[in-house]
Amino acid sequence: MNYQVNEKGYYGEFGGAWIPEMMFANIDELQKRYLEIIENDDFKTEFNSLLKDYVGRPSPLYYASRLSERYGSQIYLKREDLNHTGSHKLNNTVGQILLAQKLGKTRIIAETGAGQHGLATATVCALKGLQCVVYMGALDVKRQESNVKKMKMLGAEVVPVYSGNQTLKDATNEAMRDWISNPGDTHYIIGSVVGPHPYPDMVARFQSVISAEMKTQLLEKTGSELPARVMACVGGGSNAAGAFYHFLDHPEVELIGVEAAGKGIETKETAATLAVGTPGVLHASKTYLMQNRDGQITEPYSISAGLDYPGIGPLHAHLFKTGRARYLAATDEEVLQAVLLLTRLEGIIPALESAHALAALEKITLRPDEATVVCLSGRGDKDMQTYLDYFGY
Ligand SMILES: *Cc1c(COP(=O)(O)O)cnc(C)c1O
Repeated sequence: MNYQVNEKGYYGEFGGAWIPEMMFANIDELQKRYLEIIENDDFKTEFNSLLKDYVGRPSPLYYASRLSERYGSQIYLKREDLNHTGSHKLNNTVGQILLAQKLGKTRIIAETGAGQHGLATATVCALKGLQCVVYMGALDVKRQESNVKKMKMLGAEVVPVYSGNQTLKDATNEAMRDWISNPGDTHYIIGSVVGPHPYPDMVARFQSVISAEMKTQLLEKTGSELPARVMACVGGGSNAAGAFYHFLDHPEVELIGVEAAGKGIETKETAATLAVGTPGVLHASKTYLMQNRDGQITEPYSISAGLDYPGIGPLHAHLFKTGRARYLAATDEEVLQAVLLLTRLEGIIPALESAHALAALEKITLRPDEATVVCLSGRGDKDMQTYLDYFGY
């Protein structure tokens, strides 16, 4: 079984570039040039040097001993929360800003949900001195106030989007519209393994540093490069794609993605795409999505803005369909309990998104002699208001 994208941009039956005619020029240029640019030695040298000295990589692989004791197993946390700007998102934006420069672009646009991708994009635009416009659902602007302020301080223009349910999907639509109107000077930095080819493959490659490091770190700590399983939360699926990437061709490594069940997959208030979705086209990619019988997108819901998306990257659609990866879902309630558990057992306050992966530890069988790596995609600073409201401190 092949889990890499083919020349036409497909993972099995999923992916492709279902773009409007108006976007052809932008996408065609990227498809033709992305591999030649990012595989170039000079590019790799600059990318790796920024990952090391600017992002702060390698991120530690931490043996969580009290959490391990609690589950009677061996649990390691891949500490993407310790990256500059607080999540895995910067791995991708550093790669894409270098690519944008090679393409001669001077203006950057992005969409953002939790604000982490907007923040990571505004950060690299400041780093390289490029103009930055971030589209963000108006509801998310409200619930992620601290990230909005940081983006503005970094010099980005934050544009609130009032259509739909005013969250990530709506922001993505607006960003695509902008790109169509500005094909010449603008690069669109998509924040996950979603959208038209080549984005899912390009973003997965930039994020694959996560699993590349895991292998080296596991070998050192456990004597084997391969863990029993890798778990990660899935919104669009970029931290999961990065965490799975170098294990895809090792079937003995179980891969588990965890979606946001919201108030429960049996309710209408959910964002668990693979649990309730069906195949269709969303944001120019064939994948699973949440839709009604007429093909209208149903509005997703999750307590976590970063997972509040009605689609999923085509790689994950393929891993799901082929059975290579398993997908679970955790409810808001389960996630908040997992936040508190990690905080009290390890002294780490995780992001709401990342806590979905932690919550799924309750749902699987863990053996004493097995190593499980959980990708801790981000830190909880941005979610403090939610935590304070819920826990009542
Ligand atoms: C954005 C975000 C996610 C969700 O995005 P993926 O592309 O699915 O990884 C998960 N965790 C954190 C901390 C985020 O900021």
